Amino acid sequence: MSHEGIRISSKEEKARETEENRPLPRIAVTPEKVRVLLSEGKGLEIDWNDGHRSAWSFAWLRDACPCATCIEERKGDGRKAGQPKPKPANLLPMYVPPVKPDSAHAVGRYALQFNWNDGHSGGIYSWEYLRRVCQCGECTFDATETSGTPN
Ligand SMILES: [Zn+2]
Ligand SMILES: [Zn+2]
Repeated sequence: MSHEGIRISSKEEKARETEENRPLPRIAVTPEKVRVLLSEGKGLEIDWNDGHRSAWSFAWLRDACPCATCIEERKGDGRKAGQPKPKPANLLPMYVPPVKPDSAHAVGRYALQFNWNDGHSGGIYSWEYLRRVCQCGECTFDATETSGTPN
């Protein structure tokens, strides 16, 4: 079956989309440089085509895993993407190695996948997802309320 040349445009659907789900401009979700700082165990850095720069720690990314299981789990706990799990108080303390990927690879041209050292690997981190969860001051400032800093 070929669907080439068929274009379905639904203006109504577009209008219903909230601001948050509005598609980002392509330039904002196209990475120019992707640095996965595996050996340093640091995290991920992306320079976007629109000049924006994002960085995340591996721990943050693990807690923001976009797979269905992790999304459900976070929903159940009332956690946001990147928010760590509350530590169970009744467990014996044991050594937990800092979370980082053993490896990372590109998924097509649109995403990254991590093989985490805790055995998890289901999450596909699309460029669009990553750009939406950018943790830079500018982006997180947009999301939080302006709390009385006098000019
Ligand atoms: Zn997951
Ligand atoms: Zn940002």
